[in-house]
Amino acid sequence: MTKIDYHLHTALCKHAVGTVEEYVEAALAAGFDEIGFADHNPLPDNFDIEHRMEASQDSEYLEMVARVQQKYSDITIKLGLEVDYLPGGEDFLREQIAGYPLDYVYGSVHYLGDWNFDNPVFVHRWENSNVDDIYQWYFKCLEDLIASRLFDIIAHPDLVKKFGHRPEKLDLEACYRRICTGLREADMCIEINTSGLRKEVGEIYPARRFLEIAFETGVPIVIGSDAHSPEEVGSAFDKGRELAQAVGYTHIQQFTRRKRKPVPM
Ligand SMILES: [Zn+2]
Ligand SMILES: [Zn+2]
Repeated sequence: MTKIDYHLHTALCKHAVGTVEEYVEAALAAGFDEIGFADHNPLPDNFDIEHRMEASQDSEYLEMVARVQQKYSDITIKLGLEVDYLPGGEDFLREQIAGYPLDYVYGSVHYLGDWNFDNPVFVHRWENSNVDDIYQWYFKCLEDLIASRLFDIIAHPDLVKKFGHRPEKLDLEACYRRICTGLREADMCIEINTSGLRKEVGEIYPARRFLEIAFETGVPIVIGSDAHSPEEVGSAFDKGRELAQAVGYTHIQQFTRRKRKPVPM
């Protein structure tokens, strides 16, 4: 049994707290064999710079992770990045990703147009929105993200449910199937992200039905806590693993320099 949490942030993104050492100590205390940092990437023109590292801080990020990799021998520490997919930004992202010695790359959708839809500060914009339309837009962005072939893992696959908004007419099953077929074709993993349990929606990303379809389609998994503080490292890992096992998974994926290998969970 291997316990891996690949979704840890750092204070560089300005909305996470604690030192990288504190994250590692928390992972050790919780019995993890392996962890990975995946902080929010810098974007073109300092887009939403309030919630991500500055472009000039990438070397600091690499140094911080290298420092703990050298310091701790009883836990494996990987270097990842949580990359925001922005339509039209593919060339920038391709170059950025190639510039770091990454073990894995998460692809995320946190923006619909200029709207950071999962940020509590902008939650009021949901009030004037048609929830079905927003869901449809979100899933279309995920399809484009997958089609870009830039990423290894899709992060928090149904983040759009974060505040508990539910579509009325949208055929979610069909959306899940399109996403999972795309993931399989792109040889990408789906993340079981336990942070949804800490949010208004109160459930893991993805929904159980979404994960069942991922399993049927042959999409591999990783489990991540999306920790923005040392206390959140490995949070609800057992619940994530239970869900994975309940739908049929026996293995999670271990990444090294963007090559994956299944390990028993
Ligand atoms: Zn974050
Ligand atoms: Zn995210």
